[in-house]
Amino acid sequence: MRIGHGYDAHRLADGRLLVLGGVRIDYPQGLAAHSDGDVAIHALCDALLGAAAMGDIGRHFPDTGAEFAGIDSRVLLRRVVELLGQAGLSVGNVDLTIVAQTPRLAPYIQQMREHLAADLCVDIGAVNVKATTTEGMGFAGRREGIAAYAVALLEG
Ligand SMILES: [Zn+2]
Repeated sequence: MRIGHGYDAHRLADGRLLVLGGVRIDYPQGLAAHSDGDVAIHALCDALLGAAAMGDIGRHFPDTGAEFAGIDSRVLLRRVVELLGQAGLSVGNVDLTIVAQTPRLAPYIQQMREHLAADLCVDIGAVNVKATTTEGMGFAGRREGIAAYAVALLEG
């Protein structure tokens, strides 16, 4: 078994759609990024790649690459799972924490788990997603951005 950790943060900006954990969130702003800005999936990809000792998401999908502009991060996640499979590794379980002052993410958690489980080729019982605020402290608390942490266990 191998364990990995991932972290990501992006700035909230006008004129962007908010996508977290592969789910479209109803919110007036979105996350500024080369891709769709899904911090939760980016942190998860880094946890998976970290567990496999395969570097990080920026190495595999550089933000200078035109083919990744505006890309659905679920596509990146599925590519990471393919890479793991080629290395003889499969996902055991994952645990994510999304740090956002607003919006309230509880109504979206179940759908995030369903989407992530599908992309990871695991049972939904192997995918946990949590959301927390920082009680107004720091960049997340000031609604300047959203961050995410992920831990992943691989088997192989
Ligand atoms: Zn990112």
